[in-house]
Amino acid sequence: MNTENSNKTFSESSTDNDLAIDFEFDKQHIWHPYTSMTNALPAFGVTSAKESLLTLDDGRQLVDGTSSWWACVHGYSHPQIVDAMHGQLSKLSHVMFGGITHSPAIELSKKLVAMTSANLTKVFLADSGSIAVEVALKMALQYWQGREQPQKQRILTVKCGYHGDTFAAMSVCDPEGGMHTMFGDSVTQHEFVSAPQATFDAKFDQSELDEMRAKLEVQHSEIAAVIIEPILQGAGGMRFYHPDYLVGLRQLCDEFNVLLILDEIATGFGRTGKMFAYEHATHNGQAVEADILCLGKALTGGYISLAVTMCSDEVAQGISDSPAGVFMHGPTFMGNPLACSAACASLDILATNEWQGQISRIETQLRSELEEAKALPEVKDVRVLGGIGVIEMNSVVNTAELQQKFVDLGVWIRPFANLIYIMPPYVITAEQLTKLTSAMKHVTSTILPYQHSGFISNG
Ligand SMILES: *Cc1c(COP(=O)(O)O)cnc(C)c1O
Repeated sequence: MNTENSNKTFSESSTDNDLAIDFEFDKQHIWHPYTSMTNALPAFGVTSAKESLLTLDDGRQLVDGTSSWWACVHGYSHPQIVDAMHGQLSKLSHVMFGGITHSPAIELSKKLVAMTSANLTKVFLADSGSIAVEVALKMALQYWQGREQPQKQRILTVKCGYHGDTFAAMSVCDPEGGMHTMFGDSVTQHEFVSAPQATFDAKFDQSELDEMRAKLEVQHSEIAAVIIEPILQGAGGMRFYHPDYLVGLRQLCDEFNVLLILDEIATGFGRTGKMFAYEHATHNGQAVEADILCLGKALTGGYISLAVTMCSDEVAQGISDSPAGVFMHGPTFMGNPLACSAACASLDILATNEWQGQISRIETQLRSELEEAKALPEVKDVRVLGGIGVIEMNSVVNTAELQQKFVDLGVWIRPFANLIYIMPPYVITAEQLTKLTSAMKHVTSTILPYQHSGFISNG
């Protein structure tokens, strides 16, 4: 391959932040999420951000309705997280985790063990959400090797799920909306049943679990685990489902000797109104417990990539009893101290419990301000849970076009498929939130029947 510099468009290399943003270079050379390299959608230049405001290179400020893909829950440039990271950076930015340990990882793990359900005692520090899911799936397979049932290798899940973009994660994403068709035989074929149907506040009918039961009855001897996003199916459609579904699913997993993996990557740390979404699902006053739990996104307050996979003593013991005797995963940047310090600071902010008031205020305001969108002609549904507000359209929207409209209105909202939704930072002010909901209603009202680009993207 010819690696000459001649056809490259940059003239000098510099990392000076004050340079004008080189949009042309970006367009020619840098991939953005779920985009084409030859027909790139426009990207906006952001130079700084504070609390719930993003500052563009031209000086405009946008109210952020996305929390940077659901992660930046305390807002940008929060002094407590920034100080913690500065302090850690000057001491130890990174050191390998093989044969070495450090306080940031230990302090973070202590907090996580204390705040999650009592059975979850073991912590694997992963580098991103998708990796946390890979780790969870590997744990489940290795566990059954240690319990002398190595034939339990298949994973069961529901449709409309989203668990990440790496290969094993893809294999448990929605088979139609996900990337199964695109990558064909390279994606492992797992088992799917219908998505949960009853919405969060609807009446739950136990027969909804019949299909899951039937599947487990026939195939439990080869199924290692069920994986599911608790309460909110996020990138697979922003669907809120009934907590009793999760209660029933836990009982089925126990009955058929199958592990339950909860993917709380989108929902963890307060977003749905509970610290963890599984806390909505209670039976005899006891919240549903996962055997394996994945956390990510808001874990560091959205400041730097980090995720974790937690498991029970029993799962850890099974893995130790497997022929390998060890758990076979260990990324280069495992336990990164800088990321752990950000996560510790973010969890300290959550520990003040201000998030509860913040989320309930956001929820109340979203319910009252989004309600009227139900009357708009192209709107199929409007739904709200915790700090999540969703307008579902009848058909797929043109993300690039709507994005520009939103920016012109002074807000940052990124629709996908037929969904115009917000998950704002918990610190958003009432006025800023009104600006978001007004923009959502205004833009929604301009959408004409069947207008779409023919291109559906998660991003
Ligand atoms: C975002 C997400 C992931 C993937 O996380 P990445 O950090 O993007 O790899 C996995 N599961 C759920 C539920 C998510 O929302």
